[in-house]
Amino acid sequence: MRIENQSFSIMNYISKDGRDELRLIERAGRICYGSSMSSSFDETKQFVKGLISRGHESVLEHSLLVVKLNTNRAIANELVRHRHAGYSQESTRYANFTKERFGAEITVIDNPYLDSVAHGEWIRAMETCEETYHRMIMEDGYKAQDARGVLPLDLKTTLVMSANYREWRHIFKLRTDKAAHPQMRDLMIPLLFELKGRIPVIFDDLGVEL
Ligand SMILES: Cc1cc2nc3c(=O)[nH]c(=O)nc-3n(C[C@H](O)[C@H](O)[C@H](O)COP(=O)(O)OP(=O)(O)OC[C@H]3O[C@@H](n4cnc5c(N)ncnc54)[C@H](O)[C@@H]3O)c2cc1C
Repeated sequence: MRIENQSFSIMNYISKDGRDELRLIERAGRICYGSSMSSSFDETKQFVKGLISRGHESVLEHSLLVVKLNTNRAIANELVRHRHAGYSQESTRYANFTKERFGAEITVIDNPYLDSVAHGEWIRAMETCEETYHRMIMEDGYKAQDARGVLPLDLKTTLVMSANYREWRHIFKLRTDKAAHPQMRDLMIPLLFELKGRIPVIFDDLGVEL
């Protein structure tokens, strides 16, 4: 059994300083007002900032952000509740973790919120799940789809999630809030900060209480 931490990577191209992305949003927004394009990128940023501050967020829908997330099944289950996003998720029907391409083992996402005693119990529980899963497939001849019920919620899953900036803003507001699950925040706060660095304005106003 392998134990990993959560991680993410941005899959789609983002231009330098997010210039192309913001210019596209400006071009769409200018249609609404019949005004001409800015002559500098600073003005473009001001224009887009104005859209957001006035709540004219539908213009942000002319965008796409694709992110690959490695997380556990429980956090993934929360994320797929967002209805304006597209998803591709590793299947527990077709992925057979006894196969060599999975290292013939399951991978689980570590839980940093357990003390050392609870963490030891957690590891034993994960190992028991893995042993039962292997036995059902390797000795009893069941398919992965029949054995998957014994896999834990902390099983690692890979999820590709695509949404426009408006929806990502909504997702970040909910999923970085203190009311969100700590492991959700562990995943989403660093993603938000990476995006703040790569695409100006769009996520700037979203604050995070640490
Ligand atoms: C802290 C926390 C605890 C939660 N606990 C639970 C729980 O115990 N049980 C549970 O089942 N879920 C729970 N949820 C999930 C929650 O109810 C939402 O399903 C999830 O956050 C998706 O958010 P959403 O519906 O706002 O957004 P999205 O699906 O991302 O949609 C974005 C926005 O579009 C609009 N929208 C989308 N679809 C519709 C529609 N059909 N009608 C009208 N407007 C629409 C809404 O304004 C919505 O906010 C929890 C979420 C959080 C953040």
